[in-house]
Amino acid sequence: MKKLIGAAVAALILSALPVGALNVYPIDKAQILAGAKFDFKVELDAVVDPASVSVTVNGGKVAAVLGKEPQAVTEKDKKDMEASALILRDVKVVKAGTYTVEVKVGDMKKTVTWTVYPAAAKATAKNVIFLIADGLSVGHRTAARILSKGNTEGTSNGLLAMDMMDRMGLVGTSSVNSLAVDSANSMSAYMTGHKSSVNALGVYADRTADPFDDPKQETLGELVRRTTKKSIGIVSDAELQDATPAAVVAHTRLRDRKAEIMEAFLAVKPEVLLGGGSAYFLPKSVTGSKRADEKDYFDLFEKEGYKVATTNSELSAATMSSTPKKLLGVFHPGNLDGALDRLLLGKGTVSKYNDQPDLTNLTRTALEVLSTNKEGFFLMVEAGLVDKYSHPMDWERAVYDTIMFDKVIAIAQDFAKKNPDTLIVVTGDHTHSISVYGTVDDKKPGTLMRDKVGTYANAGFTNYVDANSDGYPDSPNPSKRLAIGWGNHPDYWETFKPKLDAPFNPTVQDENKNWIANDKYKSDTATLIAGNLARTDSTEVHSIDDMTLQMTGPGSDKLKAYQENTSTFRYIVEALGLKP
Ligand SMILES: [Zn+2]
Repeated sequence: MKKLIGAAVAALILSALPVGALNVYPIDKAQILAGAKFDFKVELDAVVDPASVSVTVNGGKVAAVLGKEPQAVTEKDKKDMEASALILRDVKVVKAGTYTVEVKVGDMKKTVTWTVYPAAAKATAKNVIFLIADGLSVGHRTAARILSKGNTEGTSNGLLAMDMMDRMGLVGTSSVNSLAVDSANSMSAYMTGHKSSVNALGVYADRTADPFDDPKQETLGELVRRTTKKSIGIVSDAELQDATPAAVVAHTRLRDRKAEIMEAFLAVKPEVLLGGGSAYFLPKSVTGSKRADEKDYFDLFEKEGYKVATTNSELSAATMSSTPKKLLGVFHPGNLDGALDRLLLGKGTVSKYNDQPDLTNLTRTALEVLSTNKEGFFLMVEAGLVDKYSHPMDWERAVYDTIMFDKVIAIAQDFAKKNPDTLIVVTGDHTHSISVYGTVDDKKPGTLMRDKVGTYANAGFTNYVDANSDGYPDSPNPSKRLAIGWGNHPDYWETFKPKLDAPFNPTVQDENKNWIANDKYKSDTATLIAGNLARTDSTEVHSIDDMTLQMTGPGSDKLKAYQENTSTFRYIVEALGLKP
């Protein structure tokens, strides 16, 4: 009994003090470019007297390194509990070195160490072309090579452009708060050099509910704008406000705040902005707008001197007589359609939006505009739909878009041949669980399609045909196709056939809100695949497998066999010789 009372008293004393972890941002092991801006924040988990908190950097005053002392504030966490924090906005560490931040409150202590690395002595590249296929995995590449080039007696009949990059390494993509990652914090790691949490762009996700008050990190777009006279290009076939393109400029803990993300584009003013997402450009009074205010971003960009295009024809017209200095093209209210629908099937939203540009055309146009700047440029091109089609396991659409992405790489390689002071970076932001494991042969006997799957010696070869030599198979549905499976998935009907009528929609929600197999695909020949995900997941999800990172050009020799995704930022800023 006495013992128990003792324990209760001890618990009471403890609860009067800040208990649990103290958060410090930037986090432990952060790698920071000397002179790049960031916000510094210490989170204590109780209201404390600021005088009782000691914060030092390398044993001395914070101001000696960050320029000023942090401000003490009281804030509320997501559960509405009040607690103290120390904040310093917009600071930088000028001198390279190792910095240890120590926070002490009573008996509690937290230490984090940052490595601040110096700016490169001089630039190795004038231009950087950063090419990213969202969700690009080894399975997509293998399938794209087989569909596009074919294979004879075990040897590929040709190579993809991505096969001909100079160097390749692997990237770890995990998050501050999870082993898994989404396109927000994965791209954010590439664009800021800082790891972050799922759904966060250009910030460390703090404990408060406000998605715009989190500690920020300067993005590559902002750095190029602040420290150089170079041009910036952002191109995507997804919505421009979607995570990947947004990460070049934006800061928010919630990637879905797309209407507000528009402000970041207008603040940085990339010379080239081409993609989807017009619903967030239009004022709320216009049908189809997804804004809650009357801001008209087409108008705002036009006032900044941008030429504006909303169809492929208008894009051609905008560049026909002379090359514009600033170009805005927004070609769809949401995501553009993929290559298979635009070029062959005419499905998706193609009948409604029948004048959409191809990502290759957008890339060529972007290079034309950006290369008029003698100072050079940073261009980011995203093939966003490789991911969008991989989630519902529509692998044919994902692979046709991988082939399109490869054509974008070829365009960049061609540009770099004529402009050898160009570094090309090719990567994805995270992987999918796609795997090529054999073939499906319609001519094989069997009632069930699964009995027509051949593996090992029985796989043989596919019979895709590319008679017009455009790199895409003329049909995704020859008699002998690839067999492709997924490592994680909900329950779904596997038909072993391409979805020619509309993109695959594998699941529907039942009355208990669980995602179950969509019976639209049920037949005497299909197989019900039992899911291995929680029934709250409607689609296949990102895998945690390593991502490939490839580089060609000046600065590419720094690539290692394995690196964290944050290293990509360092390769780019060092190649461009950014000196904040
Ligand atoms: Zn995704």
